[in-house]
Amino acid sequence: MKYNRYFSHIYAEEEVWGYPAAQRIRAAFPDSVYIPVRHYKDVFCGNRQDFNLQKRSPKLILAVKRGAQYYSGSGMCDRFGHDRFFYTSDIMNCLYDCEYCYLRGIYPSANVVIFVNQEDCLAEAEKILPAYICVSYDTDLLAFEHLTGFARGWIGFCGKHPDAEIEIRTKSAAFNRIQDLTPLSNVTLAWTLSPREAAARFEKGAPSLAARLANIRAALDRGWRVRLCVDPIIKFKGWREAYREAALIIKREIDLERLSSVSIGAFRAPPDCYGRMRKLSPDSEVLSYPMEKRGGGMRYPDEGEVVACFSELMERA
Ligand code: SF4
Repeated sequence: MKYNRYFSHIYAEEEVWGYPAAQRIRAAFPDSVYIPVRHYKDVFCGNRQDFNLQKRSPKLILAVKRGAQYYSGSGMCDRFGHDRFFYTSDIMNCLYDCEYCYLRGIYPSANVVIFVNQEDCLAEAEKILPAYICVSYDTDLLAFEHLTGFARGWIGFCGKHPDAEIEIRTKSAAFNRIQDLTPLSNVTLAWTLSPREAAARFEKGAPSLAARLANIRAALDRGWRVRLCVDPIIKFKGWREAYREAALIIKREIDLERLSSVSIGAFRAPPDCYGRMRKLSPDSEVLSYPMEKRGGGMRYPDEGEVVACFSELMERA
């Protein structure tokens, strides 16, 4: 079956056109069909949407964010030692389609919402400082950089506010979009890495392991703080061998001493979210492994061993 190209239709709240990000996006998609909407939720939260079908041909929704912008970080996330840990989402949903992505379980739609008023979001951020803010939450911010310039906006914010610290987590190979900027000690670029087989089979649209590693090397060479994340580790047939190979490749390609940190974690998800993910993908191999409810989430029964297994692989590699 033939599907419309990505963002063939763009829904837009009336107020968005006063913001530069909306104008940039319109210039990038001159041939798309533009449909005015009263509120983004009229489209994004509509009933009877088919997430899997929408993922094949997602539409774009441009909106203005109003009200609360910052949320306390989830207990299921690594806080990296920060007490004042927040997250925010300038974008909802992702250009990629990872089979194990929790967004599949929390959003009613696979369409992408871009909140074009980043200026307002940054002004609100000043009110919560000092703070550690994950700014690539519920999306992959850097993957959209060619359209939005939001990572650039956040890095500029950190240049002005030394008491702000941000993490931009990504699976993209889009470092070239920000490589002209001066690295800052309060900005961490965090790449999530997966074995070659996992990336190819379960992370549709995301760059290969080799492309992500090349981006890490480029960022390190330019002096950025880089975090390497092997999180989530997912199980699939032959996962141990795949992660063994990944550990060897990572150690061959990256000098770990140059990284600011390494984060390792096993797949986990809030119970309701996990239930919806399974319902959407009943045949998913990665979601078919036994899980148990523990610590407020669905987790592998042998979660500790899974994490220890990869840590050992990295040490031995
Ligand atoms: S890159 Fe991250 S946010 Fe995007 S689909 Fe994959 S897991 Fe989800």
